[in-house]
Amino acid sequence: MMPRIVPHPSNARGDFYVEDGCCLTCAVPFDIAPDLFAWVEGEGQCYVKKQPATPAELDRMLAAIAAAEAQCIRYKGRERAIGIRLAQTGDGAVCDAPELHIAEDRPRPCPAENRPPSLLQRISGWLRSRI
Ligand code: SF4
Repeated sequence: MMPRIVPHPSNARGDFYVEDGCCLTCAVPFDIAPDLFAWVEGEGQCYVKKQPATPAELDRMLAAIAAAEAQCIRYKGRERAIGIRLAQTGDGAVCDAPELHIAEDRPRPCPAENRPPSLLQRISGWLRSRI
C-alpha cells in the first residue's frame, strides 16, 4: 500500500498542494510562480498560497511541478486533462488519483520522412552530386 502523503496544513484549499516535510529547499516555485507559493515561516519549506485560477496560473503551477526537484508539489484533483499534462512532463506520479497515473505521453518525434535532412545528409548528398 502506498504511504499516505500528508499535505502541509498551510496550503490553500484546493487541488494542488505541497507535501509536508519533503523539502529540499529547491526554491524553484519562487522563480516560476511566486504568486502561487510562499515559504512556511520558520520551517524552510514552501506551500501553495494560491490555487491556480486562470490558464496562465495553471501553466505556471505545472511548470513549477515540472521544475521542482522533489516532486513534493502534488495534485489531488481528478481532471484528466491535467493528468495528461503532468504525464507529458514525466510528473504523473504527483497525481494522488490512481486513474490519473497515465502512461507518459510525450510528444512523438516526427516520422523520419518528414524530418529535414541533417547536415551530414546534406553534405553527403552534395558530395554524391559531385561524383
Ligand atoms: S518545491 Fe519542494 S523542495 Fe522546492 S522549496 Fe517547495 S517544498 Fe521545498
